[in-house]
Amino acid sequence: MTEKLYYKDAYIKEFDAAVLSSVELEDGTFDVVLDKTAFFPEEGGQSSDKGYIGASRVTDVQEMAGVVHHYCRSSVEGDAVRCVIDFDERFEKMQCHTAEHILCGIMHRLYGSENVGFHLGDDDVVFDVDTVLTREQLDEVRALANKAVYENRAVSTHFPSPEEITALQYRSKLDLKENVRIVNIEGYDSCACCAPHVSFTGEIGTIAILDFEKHRGGTRIHMLAGARAERDYAKRYGVIKKISALTSEPQETVADAVENLVKTLENTRQNLKMARLKESELRAELLPQSDSNAVVLLGDYTVPELIDFSNAALSKVGGMLVALAGSDGDFRYVISSRTCDVRSKAKEVNAALAGRGGGRPEMIQGSFASSLAEIEAYFK
Ligand SMILES: [Zn+2]
Repeated sequence: MTEKLYYKDAYIKEFDAAVLSSVELEDGTFDVVLDKTAFFPEEGGQSSDKGYIGASRVTDVQEMAGVVHHYCRSSVEGDAVRCVIDFDERFEKMQCHTAEHILCGIMHRLYGSENVGFHLGDDDVVFDVDTVLTREQLDEVRALANKAVYENRAVSTHFPSPEEITALQYRSKLDLKENVRIVNIEGYDSCACCAPHVSFTGEIGTIAILDFEKHRGGTRIHMLAGARAERDYAKRYGVIKKISALTSEPQETVADAVENLVKTLENTRQNLKMARLKESELRAELLPQSDSNAVVLLGDYTVPELIDFSNAALSKVGGMLVALAGSDGDFRYVISSRTCDVRSKAKEVNAALAGRGGGRPEMIQGSFASSLAEIEAYFK
Protein backbone atom coordinates (compact mmCIF):
# COMPACT_ATOMS: atom_id res chain seq x y z
CA MET A 1 0.00 0.00 0.00
CA THR A 2 1.31 3.41 -0.91
CA GLU A 3 1.10 6.03 1.86
CA LYS A 4 -1.28 8.65 0.49
CA LEU A 5 -0.05 12.09 1.43
CA TYR A 6 -2.92 13.75 -0.49
CA TYR A 7 -5.38 12.51 2.16
CA LYS A 8 -3.45 14.29 4.93
CA ASP A 9 -2.64 17.53 3.11
CA ALA A 10 -4.02 18.62 -0.25
CA TYR A 11 -1.47 21.44 -0.47
CA ILE A 12 1.73 19.38 -0.74
CA LYS A 13 3.54 20.61 -3.87
CA GLU A 14 6.87 18.84 -3.32
CA PHE A 15 7.92 15.83 -1.28
CA ASP A 16 10.73 13.29 -1.02
CA ALA A 17 9.97 9.59 -1.47
CA ALA A 18 11.76 6.27 -1.88
CA VAL A 19 11.41 4.47 -5.21
CA LEU A 20 10.17 0.93 -4.53
CA SER A 21 10.09 -0.13 -8.18
CA SER A 22 10.58 1.31 -11.66
CA VAL A 23 9.46 -1.13 -14.34
CA GLU A 24 9.83 -0.51 -18.06
CA LEU A 25 6.59 -1.02 -20.00
CA GLU A 26 6.11 -2.21 -23.59
CA ASP A 27 5.75 1.37 -24.89
CA GLY A 28 9.09 2.42 -23.36
CA THR A 29 7.57 4.35 -20.42
CA PHE A 30 8.09 3.37 -16.79
CA ASP A 31 5.67 2.30 -14.05
CA VAL A 32 7.10 3.84 -10.87
CA VAL A 33 5.90 2.91 -7.36
CA LEU A 34 6.96 5.05 -4.39
CA ASP A 35 6.68 4.41 -0.64
CA LYS A 36 4.46 7.50 -0.36
CA THR A 37 2.92 9.99 -2.77
CA ALA A 38 1.08 13.29 -3.02
CA PHE A 39 0.21 12.64 -6.70
CA PHE A 40 -3.56 12.17 -6.83
CA PRO A 41 -4.43 9.32 -9.23
CA GLU A 42 -7.23 9.35 -11.80
CA GLU A 43 -10.24 8.61 -9.65
CA GLY A 44 -13.94 9.33 -9.40
CA GLY A 45 -14.04 11.11 -12.77
CA GLN A 46 -11.06 13.37 -12.03
CA SER A 47 -7.96 13.22 -14.23
CA SER A 48 -4.67 12.46 -12.47
CA ASP A 49 -2.00 14.90 -11.30
CA LYS A 50 1.09 15.41 -13.42
CA GLY A 51 4.60 16.56 -12.50
CA TYR A 52 8.08 15.13 -11.96
CA ILE A 53 9.70 12.34 -9.98
CA GLY A 54 13.37 13.35 -10.03
CA ALA A 55 13.97 14.40 -13.64
CA SER A 56 11.32 12.05 -15.02
CA ARG A 57 8.04 13.48 -16.27
CA VAL A 58 4.90 11.95 -14.70
CA THR A 59 2.16 11.81 -17.36
CA ASP A 60 -0.44 9.63 -15.63
CA VAL A 61 -1.15 8.21 -12.16
CA GLN A 62 -3.38 5.22 -11.39
CA GLU A 63 -4.23 3.42 -8.15
CA MET A 64 -4.57 -0.37 -8.17
CA ALA A 65 -5.34 -2.32 -4.97
CA GLY A 66 -4.04 0.46 -2.76
CA VAL A 67 -0.79 0.89 -4.70
CA VAL A 68 -0.30 4.14 -6.61
CA HIS A 69 1.43 3.69 -9.99
CA HIS A 70 3.15 6.72 -11.54
CA TYR A 71 3.64 6.46 -15.31
CA CYS A 72 6.89 8.22 -16.17
CA ARG A 73 8.85 8.99 -19.34
CA SER A 74 12.12 7.64 -17.91
CA SER A 75 13.32 5.36 -15.11
CA VAL A 76 13.99 6.69 -11.59
CA GLU A 77 15.91 5.27 -8.64
CA GLY A 78 16.79 6.31 -5.09
CA ASP A 79 15.69 6.41 -1.46
CA ALA A 80 14.94 10.13 -1.34
CA VAL A 81 13.84 11.31 -4.78
CA ARG A 82 12.45 14.82 -5.07
CA CYS A 83 8.87 14.74 -6.40
CA VAL A 84 7.15 17.88 -7.70
CA ILE A 85 3.47 18.18 -8.61
CA ASP A 86 2.19 20.59 -11.30
CA PHE A 87 0.47 22.42 -8.50
CA ASP A 88 -1.21 25.24 -10.46
CA GLU A 89 -3.17 22.62 -12.37
CA ARG A 90 -3.87 20.59 -9.21
CA PHE A 91 -5.10 23.70 -7.36
CA GLU A 92 -7.45 24.55 -10.24
CA LYS A 93 -8.93 21.06 -9.92
CA MET A 94 -9.30 21.55 -6.15
CA GLN A 95 -11.19 24.78 -6.85
CA CYS A 96 -13.50 23.14 -9.43
CA HIS A 97 -13.98 19.99 -7.37
CA THR A 98 -14.91 21.81 -4.16
CA ALA A 99 -17.26 24.05 -6.18
CA GLU A 100 -18.98 20.93 -7.53
CA HIS A 101 -19.59 19.74 -3.95
CA ILE A 102 -21.22 23.05 -3.06
CA LEU A 103 -23.43 23.05 -6.19
CA CYS A 104 -24.47 19.43 -5.62
CA GLY A 105 -25.07 20.01 -1.90
CA ILE A 106 -27.39 22.93 -2.68
CA MET A 107 -29.21 21.01 -5.45
CA HIS A 108 -29.64 18.09 -3.07
CA ARG A 109 -31.12 20.33 -0.37
CA LEU A 110 -33.38 22.38 -2.66
CA TYR A 111 -34.47 19.84 -5.28
CA GLY A 112 -33.52 16.42 -3.89
CA SER A 113 -31.04 15.96 -6.75
CA GLU A 114 -28.54 13.12 -6.54
CA ASN A 115 -25.19 13.39 -8.31
CA VAL A 116 -24.96 10.51 -10.79
CA GLY A 117 -21.85 11.43 -12.81
CA PHE A 118 -18.74 13.61 -12.64
CA HIS A 119 -15.92 14.44 -15.01
CA LEU A 120 -13.10 16.82 -14.08
CA GLY A 121 -10.74 16.85 -17.03
CA ASP A 122 -7.72 18.96 -17.84
CA ASP A 123 -10.04 21.52 -19.48
CA ASP A 124 -13.71 20.91 -18.74
CA VAL A 125 -15.85 20.13 -15.70
CA VAL A 126 -19.17 18.31 -16.17
CA PHE A 127 -21.53 16.64 -13.70
CA ASP A 128 -24.90 14.93 -13.96
CA VAL A 129 -27.82 14.96 -11.54
CA ASP A 130 -30.92 12.76 -11.63
CA THR A 131 -33.48 15.61 -11.65
CA VAL A 132 -34.59 17.87 -14.49
CA LEU A 133 -33.64 21.44 -13.57
CA THR A 134 -34.58 24.74 -15.23
CA ARG A 135 -32.41 27.75 -16.05
CA GLU A 136 -34.11 29.66 -13.19
CA GLN A 137 -33.36 26.89 -10.69
CA LEU A 138 -29.74 26.70 -11.82
CA ASP A 139 -29.41 30.48 -11.55
CA GLU A 140 -30.59 30.23 -7.96
CA VAL A 141 -28.15 27.38 -7.24
CA ARG A 142 -25.27 29.36 -8.77
CA ALA A 143 -26.07 32.45 -6.71
CA LEU A 144 -26.24 30.43 -3.47
CA ALA A 145 -23.00 28.60 -4.34
CA ASN A 146 -21.15 31.89 -4.82
CA LYS A 147 -22.59 33.08 -1.50
CA ALA A 148 -20.96 30.04 0.08
CA VAL A 149 -17.66 31.29 -1.38
CA TYR A 150 -18.11 34.78 0.09
CA GLU A 151 -18.89 33.21 3.49
CA ASN A 152 -15.48 31.48 3.37
CA ARG A 153 -16.77 28.29 4.99
CA ALA A 154 -14.38 25.63 6.31
CA VAL A 155 -13.90 22.43 4.31
CA SER A 156 -12.87 19.47 6.48
CA THR A 157 -12.30 15.75 5.93
CA HIS A 158 -12.42 12.76 8.25
CA PHE A 159 -12.69 8.96 8.20
CA PRO A 160 -15.60 8.06 10.51
CA SER A 161 -15.73 4.65 12.22
CA PRO A 162 -18.30 2.11 10.92
CA GLU A 163 -20.42 2.92 14.04
CA GLU A 164 -20.27 6.66 13.42
CA ILE A 165 -21.03 6.34 9.73
CA THR A 166 -24.46 4.75 10.19
CA ALA A 167 -25.55 7.85 12.12
CA LEU A 168 -24.19 10.31 9.51
CA GLN A 169 -26.17 12.00 6.73
CA TYR A 170 -24.02 12.39 3.63
CA ARG A 171 -24.18 12.13 -0.16
CA SER A 172 -22.53 9.07 -1.65
CA LYS A 173 -22.49 7.17 -4.94
CA LEU A 174 -21.38 3.96 -3.18
CA ASP A 175 -22.84 2.15 -0.21
CA LEU A 176 -19.58 1.61 1.73
CA LYS A 177 -19.22 1.34 5.49
CA GLU A 178 -15.42 1.21 5.86
CA ASN A 179 -12.65 3.64 4.91
CA VAL A 180 -15.26 6.19 3.88
CA ARG A 181 -13.74 9.64 3.67
CA ILE A 182 -16.30 12.31 4.43
CA VAL A 183 -15.76 15.81 3.06
CA ASN A 184 -17.76 18.37 4.97
CA ILE A 185 -18.42 21.91 3.77
CA GLU A 186 -19.80 23.75 6.76
CA GLY A 187 -23.50 24.46 6.23
CA TYR A 188 -23.55 23.31 2.61
CA ASP A 189 -22.56 19.72 1.99
CA SER A 190 -21.41 16.42 3.40
CA CYS A 191 -20.20 13.91 0.84
CA ALA A 192 -18.10 10.76 0.58
CA CYS A 193 -15.11 11.66 -1.61
CA CYS A 194 -11.43 10.75 -1.93
CA ALA A 195 -10.18 13.73 -3.95
CA PRO A 196 -8.22 16.81 -2.77
CA HIS A 197 -10.27 19.91 -1.90
CA VAL A 198 -9.46 23.46 -0.80
CA SER A 199 -9.55 24.17 2.96
CA PHE A 200 -11.85 27.18 2.84
CA THR A 201 -14.53 27.99 0.26
CA GLY A 202 -13.07 31.48 -0.22
CA GLU A 203 -10.18 29.87 -2.14
CA ILE A 204 -12.57 28.68 -4.84
CA GLY A 205 -13.19 32.08 -6.41
CA THR A 206 -16.08 32.47 -8.84
CA ILE A 207 -18.37 29.51 -9.50
CA ALA A 208 -19.88 29.61 -13.00
CA ILE A 209 -22.53 27.37 -14.56
CA LEU A 210 -21.74 27.62 -18.28
CA ASP A 211 -24.39 25.41 -19.80
CA PHE A 212 -26.82 22.59 -19.09
CA GLU A 213 -28.85 20.05 -21.02
CA LYS A 214 -31.28 17.21 -20.40
CA HIS A 215 -29.38 13.97 -19.95
CA ARG A 216 -30.75 10.48 -19.21
CA GLY A 217 -33.85 11.77 -17.46
CA GLY A 218 -31.83 14.29 -15.43
CA THR A 219 -29.58 17.25 -16.12
CA ARG A 220 -25.97 17.50 -17.33
CA ILE A 221 -24.26 20.65 -16.08
CA HIS A 222 -21.10 22.25 -17.48
CA MET A 223 -19.33 24.37 -14.89
CA LEU A 224 -16.06 26.12 -14.09
CA ALA A 225 -14.63 27.70 -10.98
CA GLY A 226 -11.63 29.67 -9.78
CA ALA A 227 -8.72 30.25 -12.16
CA ARG A 228 -10.45 28.35 -14.96
CA ALA A 229 -13.58 30.51 -14.60
CA GLU A 230 -11.43 33.66 -14.53
CA ARG A 231 -9.66 32.72 -17.80
CA ASP A 232 -12.97 31.70 -19.32
CA TYR A 233 -14.49 35.07 -18.37
CA ALA A 234 -11.58 36.94 -19.98
CA LYS A 235 -11.85 34.84 -23.15
CA ARG A 236 -15.63 35.32 -23.46
CA TYR A 237 -15.39 39.02 -22.62
CA GLY A 238 -12.82 39.38 -25.42
CA VAL A 239 -15.17 37.66 -27.88
CA ILE A 240 -18.15 39.86 -26.93
CA LYS A 241 -16.01 42.99 -27.07
CA LYS A 242 -14.86 42.10 -30.59
CA ILE A 243 -18.41 41.36 -31.79
CA SER A 244 -19.58 44.62 -30.22
CA ALA A 245 -16.85 46.57 -32.05
CA LEU A 246 -17.56 44.82 -35.37
CA THR A 247 -21.29 45.54 -35.16
CA SER A 248 -20.94 48.99 -33.51
CA GLU A 249 -23.51 47.86 -30.95
CA PRO A 250 -23.29 48.11 -27.16
CA GLN A 251 -22.32 44.79 -25.54
CA GLU A 252 -25.66 44.57 -23.69
CA THR A 253 -27.68 44.50 -26.95
CA VAL A 254 -25.16 42.87 -29.28
CA ALA A 255 -26.97 39.50 -29.36
CA ASP A 256 -30.17 41.12 -30.73
CA ALA A 257 -28.08 43.09 -33.23
CA VAL A 258 -26.37 39.90 -34.48
CA GLU A 259 -29.78 38.18 -34.75
CA ASN A 260 -30.96 41.02 -37.00
CA LEU A 261 -27.75 40.85 -39.03
CA VAL A 262 -28.21 37.12 -39.61
CA LYS A 263 -31.78 37.74 -40.83
CA THR A 264 -30.57 40.52 -43.14
CA LEU A 265 -27.79 38.28 -44.46
CA GLU A 266 -30.27 35.50 -45.20
CA ASN A 267 -32.52 37.96 -47.10
CA THR A 268 -29.51 39.27 -49.02
CA ARG A 269 -28.49 35.72 -49.94
CA GLN A 270 -31.99 35.03 -51.24
CA ASN A 271 -31.98 38.30 -53.22
CA LEU A 272 -28.54 37.52 -54.66
CA LYS A 273 -29.70 34.04 -55.63
CA MET A 274 -32.72 35.47 -57.48
CA ALA A 275 -30.54 38.15 -59.13
CA ARG A 276 -28.00 35.53 -60.23
CA LEU A 277 -30.78 33.41 -61.69
CA LYS A 278 -32.09 36.43 -63.61
CA GLU A 279 -28.55 37.29 -64.74
CA SER A 280 -28.04 33.70 -65.91
CA GLU A 281 -31.19 33.87 -67.99
CA LEU A 282 -30.19 37.23 -69.52
CA ARG A 283 -26.66 36.02 -70.32
CA ALA A 284 -28.12 32.88 -71.85
CA GLU A 285 -30.40 35.00 -74.03
CA LEU A 286 -27.41 37.11 -75.17
CA LEU A 287 -25.39 34.05 -76.13
CA PRO A 288 -25.34 33.70 -79.95
CA GLN A 289 -26.78 30.49 -81.40
CA SER A 290 -23.93 28.25 -82.59
CA ASP A 291 -23.14 24.68 -83.56
CA SER A 292 -19.64 24.76 -82.03
CA ASN A 293 -18.35 24.91 -78.43
CA ALA A 294 -18.86 28.00 -76.26
CA VAL A 295 -16.72 29.16 -73.28
CA VAL A 296 -18.45 31.64 -70.94
CA LEU A 297 -16.73 33.24 -67.91
CA LEU A 298 -19.18 34.16 -65.14
CA GLY A 299 -17.24 36.07 -62.42
CA ASP A 300 -17.58 34.58 -58.94
CA TYR A 301 -20.50 32.19 -59.55
CA THR A 302 -20.85 29.13 -57.34
CA VAL A 303 -21.11 25.68 -58.95
CA PRO A 304 -24.94 25.55 -58.46
CA GLU A 305 -25.15 28.98 -60.15
CA LEU A 306 -22.98 27.72 -63.03
CA ILE A 307 -25.42 24.79 -63.36
CA ASP A 308 -28.41 27.23 -63.45
CA PHE A 309 -26.70 29.19 -66.22
CA SER A 310 -25.83 26.01 -68.15
CA ASN A 311 -29.44 24.80 -68.00
CA ALA A 312 -30.66 28.18 -69.29
CA ALA A 313 -28.06 28.46 -72.11
CA LEU A 314 -27.67 24.89 -73.33
CA SER A 315 -30.25 25.18 -76.12
CA LYS A 316 -28.03 27.84 -77.77
CA VAL A 317 -24.96 25.63 -78.03
CA GLY A 318 -24.54 22.74 -80.48
CA GLY A 319 -21.16 21.57 -79.09
CA MET A 320 -19.99 21.76 -75.49
CA LEU A 321 -21.01 24.65 -73.22
CA VAL A 322 -18.14 25.45 -70.82
CA ALA A 323 -19.34 27.68 -67.95
CA LEU A 324 -16.46 29.04 -65.83
CA ALA A 325 -16.15 30.93 -62.55
CA GLY A 326 -12.95 32.15 -60.91
CA SER A 327 -9.70 33.41 -62.37
CA ASP A 328 -6.53 32.14 -64.14
CA GLY A 329 -5.13 29.07 -62.39
CA ASP A 330 -8.24 28.62 -60.23
CA PHE A 331 -11.43 28.02 -62.22
CA ARG A 332 -14.59 26.12 -61.29
CA TYR A 333 -16.21 24.61 -64.33
CA VAL A 334 -19.50 23.10 -65.45
CA ILE A 335 -19.41 21.50 -68.92
CA SER A 336 -22.65 20.36 -70.56
CA SER A 337 -23.86 19.29 -74.00
CA ARG A 338 -27.06 18.26 -75.82
CA THR A 339 -25.17 16.39 -78.52
CA CYS A 340 -22.20 14.56 -77.00
CA ASP A 341 -21.32 12.52 -73.89
CA VAL A 342 -19.21 14.97 -71.83
CA ARG A 343 -18.44 12.37 -69.19
CA SER A 344 -16.48 10.34 -71.74
CA LYS A 345 -14.40 13.46 -72.53
CA ALA A 346 -13.71 14.37 -68.86
CA LYS A 347 -10.41 12.50 -68.59
CA GLU A 348 -8.99 14.10 -71.74
CA VAL A 349 -10.23 17.60 -70.82
CA ASN A 350 -8.85 17.39 -67.26
CA ALA A 351 -5.49 16.09 -68.53
CA ALA A 352 -5.18 18.93 -71.04
CA LEU A 353 -6.18 21.76 -68.69
CA ALA A 354 -4.74 20.67 -65.31
CA GLY A 355 -8.23 19.83 -64.17
CA ARG A 356 -10.12 17.43 -61.95
CA GLY A 357 -13.77 16.46 -61.85
CA GLY A 358 -16.47 14.42 -63.51
CA GLY A 359 -20.20 13.79 -63.50
CA ARG A 360 -23.00 12.56 -65.76
CA PRO A 361 -22.97 12.03 -69.58
CA GLU A 362 -24.86 15.33 -70.09
CA MET A 363 -22.99 17.44 -67.48
CA ILE A 364 -19.64 17.34 -65.65
CA GLN A 365 -18.22 19.72 -63.04
CA GLY A 366 -14.81 20.31 -61.54
CA SER A 367 -11.86 22.68 -61.50
CA PHE A 368 -9.11 23.82 -63.87
CA ALA A 369 -5.69 25.09 -62.75
CA SER A 370 -5.01 26.49 -66.24
CA SER A 371 -5.53 29.99 -67.72
CA LEU A 372 -8.59 31.34 -69.55
CA ALA A 373 -6.52 31.63 -72.76
CA GLU A 374 -5.55 27.95 -72.52
CA ILE A 375 -9.17 26.89 -71.88
CA GLU A 376 -10.49 28.99 -74.78
CA ALA A 377 -7.81 27.67 -77.12
CA TYR A 378 -8.58 24.07 -76.14
CA PHE A 379 -12.33 24.32 -76.79
CA LYS A 380 -11.98 26.42 -79.99
ZN1 LIG B 1 -14.72 15.72 -3.65
